[in-house]
Formats: sequence, C-alpha cells, structure tokens
Amino acid sequence: MNVLLIGAPGVGKGTISRYLISNYGLDHISTGDILREAVVNKTELGLKVKEYMDKGALVSDEIIIGIIRERLSKCKSSNGYIFDGFPRTNTQAIAFESILKELNLKIDVVLVLDVEDDIVIKRITGRRTCPKCNTIYNIYYSSPKTQNVCDKCGCELFTRNDDNLESLKKRLSEYHTNADSLIHYYDELKLVKHIDASKTREEEYVLLVKILEGLK
Ligand code: AMP
Repeated sequence: MNVLLIGAPGVGKGTISRYLISNYGLDHISTGDILREAVVNKTELGLKVKEYMDKGALVSDEIIIGIIRERLSKCKSSNGYIFDGFPRTNTQAIAFESILKELNLKIDVVLVLDVEDDIVIKRITGRRTCPKCNTIYNIYYSSPKTQNVCDKCGCELFTRNDDNLESLKKRLSEYHTNADSLIHYYDELKLVKHIDASKTREEEYVLLVKILEGLK
C-alpha cells in the first residue's frame, strides 16, 4: 500500500506516519527529513537548500524530484511507502506520476489532513525536538518533565530553524497556494480522503484505519 500525505506544516503528518510505520510496516519517505539531514551534514545538497528552508521557501522541483527518484530506486519496500511532504506542487505531482510508472508502483490513497491555521501555529511554535532520539515535544500540549530536556535521553531540546513564526507564516502561505490545486489533481484521480486533524490522536487513528480498511 502506498500512501501520500498532504497537510500544512504541524498538522501531524509525522504522527500519522509513525502510526503507519509501526502498524502497516510502511517505509517513510519525508523530503523535509532528507533535506534537514543534508543540511546538518553540510553536504553539497544541504548547502544548496539551507537558505530556502530557513526562510520557509520551497526547494526547487528539480532537486526534489531528483531526491525522490534516487530514494525510490535505492531501496525497495515490500509493504509500501508513505510519501510525506511530497509532492508539494503540480509539477512534482506530474513528474512523480512518471517515476511511479517506471517503477511499476501506484498511489493507493491520498490522505488530506485538515486543520485551522491558528491550531497549527501553536503546534509549530511550541515544538521542541530531541537532537539524539528525535522525540518531539510541545511546550503547550506535551511538555517534557524538565523544561527543555528530553525525558528519554536527557539531551537539550532544540527548536527547528524553520519553526519560527515568520518562517511558519511563509510555509502556511506556501501550503495554501499549492495545496488546493494538488488536492484537485488527486481528487480527479479519485484518491483523496480527508481526515479532521483537529481531533485527538486516537480519533484520528480510528478514522485512518477505517479509510485504509475501505481500500481492501
Ligand atoms: P517539511 O518538513 O515537509 O515541512 O519541509 C521542510 C522544508 O523542506 C520546507 O519548508 C521546504 O523548504 C523543504 N521541502 C520539503 N519538501 C519539499 C517539497 N516537496 N518541495 C519543495 N520543498 C520542500
């Protein structure tokens, strides 16, 4: 099963992904994570994209399509993939279509996670991440026991460079600019299912399972 996730930053794509990884054994492909790793490791790609990411601007379609092509041809998944944060534009969606065809793959469902912007703003600006074990906290909703320290490994938590309000507003506006036409693109292919992402995690999982069971 191949699942594509569409949703604003902070809507909970990571949480849904973790659920799909542990319960359905899917392979998670997040272009945001791939790019962040490249930035941390100061690779050629990382140096090229850092400025765009810090500003909350989109990285070029060409770079992103190259990353996906390489990732899909490098390691094959027997259970399927979660595409998280990709495609973001119609150009990426069209290129993706031909990559999938070449690899004899298809998307089974496009999950659109819907939530109001003001909820997203609280989720993102309150987000703190552990640099070692990647556990994510939120100072408003799920703070660590000791302020700014990871409960699991005791490391000091950090705020992602692009999790500031200015960058977030840019990312939200970028999301709204591209999402409508992207959702329309996949709606035409009858692949879209909506999930109300303002609900609790448990309620979201129930909805998710119902959708995935309906695909069988
Ligand atoms: P994300 O973690 O998905 O919110 O992505 C973080 C940042 O990485 C975005 O703000 C963009 O700068 C870049 N990025 C991730 N995925 C894409 C994509 N599919 N197209 C263009 N830029 C992307």
